Amino acid sequence: MEDLKDFGEPLEFWQYFYEITKIPRCSQQEEKIRDYILNEAKKMGYQVDMDEIQNLVIRVPYKMDSKLDNLKVVLQSHMDMVCEKHERSQHDFAKDPLKLKLIEIKNEKWLTAEDTTLGADNGVGIAYQLTIMKKIHDGTLDIGALDLDLLFTVDEERGLSGASLMDKNLVSGNYLLNLDSEEDNKFTIGCAGGRVFRGEIKYKRELLSNPDLIAVKISISGLLGGHSGSDINKKRGNALKVLSEVLWKVNSKFDIVINSLDGGNLTNAIPREANVIIYINKEQKKEIEAFLKELTSNIKNLYKGSDSNFEISINPIEEFTDKTSFSRNFQQKMIDLFYIMPNGPISLHPTSDYLVHTSLNFAVVHTFENVIEFKISTRSLTQYDKDTLFEKLKTLFKMSGLDIDIEVETIYPSWPPDFNSKLTEISKQVYSSLFDKEVVIQAIHAGLECAYFSYYYPDMEMISLGPNVRGGHSPDERLQIRSVSKIWNFLISLLKNLAQLNE
Ligand SMILES: [Zn+2]
Repeated sequence: MEDLKDFGEPLEFWQYFYEITKIPRCSQQEEKIRDYILNEAKKMGYQVDMDEIQNLVIRVPYKMDSKLDNLKVVLQSHMDMVCEKHERSQHDFAKDPLKLKLIEIKNEKWLTAEDTTLGADNGVGIAYQLTIMKKIHDGTLDIGALDLDLLFTVDEERGLSGASLMDKNLVSGNYLLNLDSEEDNKFTIGCAGGRVFRGEIKYKRELLSNPDLIAVKISISGLLGGHSGSDINKKRGNALKVLSEVLWKVNSKFDIVINSLDGGNLTNAIPREANVIIYINKEQKKEIEAFLKELTSNIKNLYKGSDSNFEISINPIEEFTDKTSFSRNFQQKMIDLFYIMPNGPISLHPTSDYLVHTSLNFAVVHTFENVIEFKISTRSLTQYDKDTLFEKLKTLFKMSGLDIDIEVETIYPSWPPDFNSKLTEISKQVYSSLFDKEVVIQAIHAGLECAYFSYYYPDMEMISLGPNVRGGHSPDERLQIRSVSKIWNFLISLLKNLAQLNE
């Protein structure tokens, strides 16, 4: 390793960051990093509290004996890191220190770890918090009359359980700064919440007796897919929706019966593949193939440039032994429902055209003996719209005339963005006066810990920020050296500005 002094200000940040990279801290194995943070706080005489699931908070009051009612800021990071390594690596995350390495990309210095994730996500947050504590303690930093709660959560990376199960009494404050973002010119001030649910459509199978029927499989494949939140506005095809469109049109023109329909895999992924097995009259095979060919080129036009490298294929299945199918009446209702099922972005944010407000991912369909199972994931920036979409879907299911049971699998809150909050305004001003540039203020269509905090503390204003980190969650993870002091300067200046609100 180079001399830490060459990394720029503040030196304490780099000393802490370096120490942290020696401490094991995979998700749900945060004991050692917790002990380290706890010891640092105790050494300096600060009070430490913990909740039942071992989230940790250090109280850093403006003056140790102060009884004044100062404004209070919560500075927050998560203690765990994603433990990923190259296959060839012998690294043992349970005991080995990370091997740090300085690299240069286009004249820009980055810190990375050999063969493993770096844990800048969220080691930088921890290091900023400890640096602020130490410098206030040593008297080398004066942010003014502000009380601080330094909050360290557990188990962020595996589904935000540290934040979602946190004891609400652990912290309090007027503002919360989450230090878990990875672009130093963008601040996040909101994110979508969601509801994932599972439906069961009950039906009875029928025996087929017509000897002129042959079984064929229509398959959709080669779509890009992607994350059901952050990629939902990229105009990518949903294999189940494409298949439903094909099936509805084929069914309205030809005499077919459906044996089974399947597609999708995970609720947080846009389905890339789907297929249906149908019985057709063997005389009509050529005609159906020609019809499909024309249909394919029309459908592909809808995804030109965004996702047009997919295939719609039809192939006979030799010696298919399952001579059963849906009834024609049931099949019509099911295809109707899937054909008009909403999907993708449902609405955009009222004041921002690039921000998806509410969305839906028609994620999974599986055919079982007497039940068709489907899964849908919905997201929205507001609770109201999330509930409204759910009501509309349930109404649609009722209108379909099918026998459908719904069961909610997971539900998580949104962090509704307030583009005009005091904290957002002050952050924008501080950023532009320091760097002579406008900061991008954004909300995202995926889940963050702040969603739970804003749910627990609806009056607390929040923002998420951090230095440039690239390649997160992979062995390519790297932290831009220069960006660390940029965000440090911002952070300190922001805190000083918030302290002045006391006066
Ligand atoms: Zn993180």
